[in-house]
Amino acid sequence: MKGVTVITHPLVQHNLTRLRDKRTGPQEFRRVLSEVAALMVYEATRSFAVEPAPVRTPLELARGSRLKRDVVLVAVLRAGLGMLDSILQLIPHARVGFIGLKREETTLRAMFYHKSLPPDLSQSEVILIDPMLATGGSAVAAMDLLAELDAKRVRLVNLVAAPEGIRRVQSRYPNFPIFTAAVDRKLNDKGYILPGLGDAGDRLFGV
Ligand code: URA
Repeated sequence: MKGVTVITHPLVQHNLTRLRDKRTGPQEFRRVLSEVAALMVYEATRSFAVEPAPVRTPLELARGSRLKRDVVLVAVLRAGLGMLDSILQLIPHARVGFIGLKREETTLRAMFYHKSLPPDLSQSEVILIDPMLATGGSAVAAMDLLAELDAKRVRLVNLVAAPEGIRRVQSRYPNFPIFTAAVDRKLNDKGYILPGLGDAGDRLFGV
C-alpha cells in the first residue's frame, strides 16, 4: 500500500499481540505500548534528512552527521500520551504539542477540545502520534490544524490502522506517510477497529 509502512519487526508484532489481548491490564498495556512506540519511531524516523557535522574525536577529525530539521512530536489526547514518553527518550530535544480530539458519538465526527502546538512548524519534522487510526476523522482534523500552522513534513505513527482511516487520510494528505504495526480488517458500526484492541485510551487508563 503506497505511503503506508507496516512495521513487521518481530518485537513490534510480539508487543502488538500483547496489546490486542483482552487479558492485558492497564499496567502492562501502558508499559508495552510505551515499548512498542519506541520501536516504531525508530523505523518511522529512518528517512529523516541529515546533514554533515564533522566532529573532532580525541584523536582526529571524523565525519559526522546530525538531524537537518528540528523534530516536533504531537500527541493526540488521550491515547497518544501512552506513546509519548518513550519517543521523547529517543528524541529528547523534540518540541512537543498536544491535540485533544473527541469523537461525537452519533456522527463520529472529530471535535477539538484542546490545542497546544509549538510555533513555526514550517521547517520541522512533525510526528503525529495516535495508537489508533480508525475513521481517520481525528487524524485529518489534526493534520488540517498542522497544515494551517504551515507544517510541511508530517508523518503519522499509529499502532493499528483501519483501511477506512488510511483511505481518508491519504485522499487529503497523500504525501504524509503513515507508519503502523497493522492494517486491520475494517471498522464496526461504532467506529471501532476490527479486530483492533478495543478503546486504546480506556485500556491505557483503566477506564
Ligand atoms: N479508537 C480506539 O481507541 N479504538 C478503536 O478501535 C477505534 C478508535
